[in-house]
Amino acid sequence: MKPEFSVIVPAYNEQEVIEESYKRLSAVMKELNEPYELIFIDDGSRDNTARILAGICEEDKNVKLLRFSRNFGHMPAITAGMDYARGSAVLVIDADLQDPPELFPKMIEKWREGYDVVYGKRSERKGETAFKKLTAGMYYRFLRRMTDVDLPVDTGEFRLIDRKVCDVIKHIKEKNRYIRGLVSWVGFKQTAVEYVREKRFAGETKYPLGKMIKLAMNGITAFSYKPLKLATHLGLGISALSFLYLLIVLYQRLFTNSTAEGWASMVAIVLFSQGIVLIVLGLMGEYIGRIFEEIKDRPIYIIDEILNSEQVSDNEG
Ligand code: UDP
Ligand code: MG
Repeated sequence: MKPEFSVIVPAYNEQEVIEESYKRLSAVMKELNEPYELIFIDDGSRDNTARILAGICEEDKNVKLLRFSRNFGHMPAITAGMDYARGSAVLVIDADLQDPPELFPKMIEKWREGYDVVYGKRSERKGETAFKKLTAGMYYRFLRRMTDVDLPVDTGEFRLIDRKVCDVIKHIKEKNRYIRGLVSWVGFKQTAVEYVREKRFAGETKYPLGKMIKLAMNGITAFSYKPLKLATHLGLGISALSFLYLLIVLYQRLFTNSTAEGWASMVAIVLFSQGIVLIVLGLMGEYIGRIFEEIKDRPIYIIDEILNSEQVSDNEG
């Protein structure tokens, strides 16, 4: 039977929470009295996550497990979930219970009212470092200004999307996916429900600083080429200033007795402009790297094993 709801749960080394998240998710889904599937994606965990999930799959046929061949990342895991989901509404949630599954009925209500995307908007974030809150807040606002897409601030991957939106996103073949951005980019009728983001139920964040920076860069480079214009603007600005300075130097040379001196200022200017050139080169490198990733056309993820798969569709990414 085709499920009405598909829940996508990416999990990477989540052995401490996965049992609890299964329990809370299935309690919420059962209440709804409609056929549903819980799709867990084991993103190459090195702990017992996959084993625990396999055990759950044996007992509960509403649960499916896609096991990746290695760690591909959060976005690829959600992508796989979307590829295999068959529900009329697709719900995405983290495995660590920071986003409350109990909000699903409210999201579904909005969906029934006719919205195609219902995203969770964090009114408050608990149990996260001041550094993460500050940088995340600044980042979402910066990203908004950089792009022409209407990206909602303070929103993660916690959301409901309609089948038609899911199908559209499935067919976007971009490799370095910034899914929350793509969902905004595709349009449709979108709305938000606010919630308080809780502390992690157990375990530690799977987004260390390095991964966070990579995701942040992906968000910017995937949705804006404004950084590339930086070169033009800086170049124009510096040229204009240098030209003014040249006039001053010439004036001094021709009409006064004081000649310009200063080895130190020369060095400072040269180093400064060199620094700018390198920054701009690095920025271009970011974009070239993205082109390189796209052109290689490797799959976004590789699946090792699927459990309770007899019902899942065959459109692998
Ligand atoms: N995750 C994943 N692959 C990764 C990193 C994270 O599937 O390489 C999952 C993780 O298990 C969790 C979700 O993505 O379900 C969000 O990660 P996390 O809670 O660690 O991020 P945070 O909430 O700290 O930003
Ligand atoms: Mg989390």
